[in-house]
Amino acid sequence: MSRGFRVALVGFILLSIIFGFFYIYTTQRMNDLKTKKYLEISKEMRNDLELLIQEKSEAVLLVALTLSEDQTLKQLIRKKEYSKLMLQDLSKLLQKYTSLQDVWFQVIDKDGVSVYRSWTSQKGDNVANTRLDVAKMIRLPKVMSTISVSKFDMTFKAMVPIYDKFGRFIGMIETLAKFDSLVSKLETKGYKTLIVVDKRYKRQLTRSSSGIFIDGYYVANPQNNEHILKIFKNKIDYFLDIDVYEVDEANGYLFSVLKMDGIDRRPMAYFIISKPLSEIDMREIYQRRDNSIKILVLVFIFLFILLYIVYTVNYKRFIQERNEMLEYTVEEKTHELQKQSKKMQYLAHHDALTTLPNKNLFVDRLKQGIKHAKREHKSLAVLFLDLDRFKEVNDTYGHDVGDELLKSVANRLLSCVREDDTVARIGGDEFTVLLANTDQVSVVKVIEKIFDAMQKPFLVLGIEIHTTFSVGVSIYKQDGEHPDTLLRNADTAMYKAKDSGKNTYQFYNEQMTALVRERLELDNDIRNGLRKGEFEAYYQPKIDATTLRIVGLEALIRWNHPTKGLLYPVEFIPFAEEVGLIVEIDKYMLEHCVKQLVEWRAAGYQTGKLSINVSTKKLESEDFRSELYRLVEKSHVDTKYLELEILESQIMTDPERSIDILRSIRSLGISISIDDFGTGYSSLSYLKKLPVSQLKIDRSFVLDVPSDEDDAAIVKTIIDLAKNLGLEIIAEGVESEGQIEFLVQHGCRNIQGYYYSKALSKAECEVFMKKHA
Ligand code: C2E
Ligand code: CA
Ligand code: CA
Repeated sequence: MSRGFRVALVGFILLSIIFGFFYIYTTQRMNDLKTKKYLEISKEMRNDLELLIQEKSEAVLLVALTLSEDQTLKQLIRKKEYSKLMLQDLSKLLQKYTSLQDVWFQVIDKDGVSVYRSWTSQKGDNVANTRLDVAKMIRLPKVMSTISVSKFDMTFKAMVPIYDKFGRFIGMIETLAKFDSLVSKLETKGYKTLIVVDKRYKRQLTRSSSGIFIDGYYVANPQNNEHILKIFKNKIDYFLDIDVYEVDEANGYLFSVLKMDGIDRRPMAYFIISKPLSEIDMREIYQRRDNSIKILVLVFIFLFILLYIVYTVNYKRFIQERNEMLEYTVEEKTHELQKQSKKMQYLAHHDALTTLPNKNLFVDRLKQGIKHAKREHKSLAVLFLDLDRFKEVNDTYGHDVGDELLKSVANRLLSCVREDDTVARIGGDEFTVLLANTDQVSVVKVIEKIFDAMQKPFLVLGIEIHTTFSVGVSIYKQDGEHPDTLLRNADTAMYKAKDSGKNTYQFYNEQMTALVRERLELDNDIRNGLRKGEFEAYYQPKIDATTLRIVGLEALIRWNHPTKGLLYPVEFIPFAEEVGLIVEIDKYMLEHCVKQLVEWRAAGYQTGKLSINVSTKKLESEDFRSELYRLVEKSHVDTKYLELEILESQIMTDPERSIDILRSIRSLGISISIDDFGTGYSSLSYLKKLPVSQLKIDRSFVLDVPSDEDDAAIVKTIIDLAKNLGLEIIAEGVESEGQIEFLVQHGCRNIQGYYYSKALSKAECEVFMKKHA
């Protein structure tokens, strides 16, 4: 439901309610007016009646007063000549000239004896005994004017005392008149009247002839209003109970009642006056009602029109607002969608961590750059940058630090290039830079700027980190004309830079492609070599400098390459580490050397401990443990003559992880020696926890002892450390007597180095062992 419609509906309902109230009000008001009118008329009816009653009472009294002063009458009473009292003529005169009809007289003497009655010839009887008012008059003569019920009817009555010329009370005159004339007068005013006498007076009305009795009530109906009488007959109590007026709609009369009390102050008579409703003028009232309704209808129409206008205007505005809102929403949604798609595009083209462009965007920009360079005959450069030792940072400090470092590095990179150059992150620690419109010299300047920027250590989450880049460069169009070629060649150049010792840059050239080819060949060759048994273990003796006896042998791998001749580890071990082939190589050496050891021990050679170099890649390989168990079991080797050498730098990248594996190695009885000790930043806490048995001082520290004080101090410290930790100690790369002297003097008697022997073939080693047993 629309808002406009709701407003209109509510308006309509309100209007209807108002209309309803107004109608009720008008009806009420009309009823009030009618009531008022009835009240008015009924009051008028009663007033008229009261006025007539008063007039009649006065007339009756006046006649009595006049008669009481009549001298003739006085004289006749004084002389007691009652027979001469003739008042009939007077009665006739009154009937003829006044409104007094049916008027009677009675003369009573001072003793209460009725001496004259105008309606009968009966006289001489004493009424003072039967009539209280007469007795009262005799005792206390006084004018009396009342309405009373006589034997015949209800009457107006007046009693006046008669005095002689000396003022002595000699008698009284009583005048009586019926109500009939009064009723006929009311009739002329349009009222129909019944006179009802209370049933208490029934006994008094012994000679009544003009009225009838209903339920003991005497009802006089002088005008013969049969209709009214019939109504009255049916509900007497109802009529006698009327307080002010009653409307009898059914019969079409307005009734009012005038009640008169007797001397005893109880109701004596009821004058039931009625007026036909048809004779009451209600036109004014109906007119008023009609006018009100007319006004109401007009107001209603006016309000309805107003409401309709309001509704239409409102509805239009509502529709307009709706439209505006809709437009706004659509606009907003469109905007949002645009924003989202922008965001999506941004995400699709940017690296989430550094917000730099990603590889996709970089390739895109490179494409554009190439197009442009082609058109303008310009050149452009692609820099491929790889962070040196980033993995170590990640392994040592965790990924959070690694991530933060990458962000900081990205910022520094950005600060080194122009705005229209592109810096992108295309992999873990790999960044690329696109330099437009450039030449070799400018490229070198940019790279040096980058190296410069990288010199300052990074402060990442409170840790100070040094890191460098290895950079490879390819140039359009000499090094390629397609994005892929340029990127690949820059990558190749970067590898070359890495190989030539990190924190360096290298331009791409054809030989680098050859290098890649070489690497592929090497991979193949190693696999083939392992299969064909081209690898051979050489053994370098370890000597106790004080006794000159063999304390052990270190197995060192040699490769009898079919075309290249004897190859040393440096030519294939780092590569094998990089590509993962080291796992296979170590497996080969382990099996081979254990077999040799078992053989030699069986032959009675004093081998001491035979140590084998194992890469952590091998240690952490899934089946290393089971492999080692199986080997020990199968070969029946005495593991106390077996030792594994693990590089300190490798073990310390994740010592927690190594601990488990080292424990299981130890549980087999195999010793563990930490190789190249002093280069890998061992934490003392881990050193204490690791289940190792020996530290091997790295050759680089031994090289310049005793002449180099720093190295000498380091060597001494390492020896002390081993002592304190209860570990064996050995020095490698020992070539001179001076070195031996220094080492022995400071507590390191076990020596490995060219001074005693280089690594020897199996046969050579057997000779050496026999000599130094
Ligand atoms: P490394 O474990 O530190 O082995 C000692 C290296 O120093 C050997 O070089 C050895 O010939 C050389 N050396 C011994 N005494 C002297 C000396 O007095 N002066 C000089 N200048 N050098 C001396 P090599 O055999 O070329 O081995 C190089 C590295 O290759 C080894 O260093 C070791 O890390 C790795 N390696 C050799 N064989 C294996 C192997 O079977 N498995 C693994 N994972 N690594 C191996
Ligand atoms: Ca070693
Ligand atoms: Ca070593």
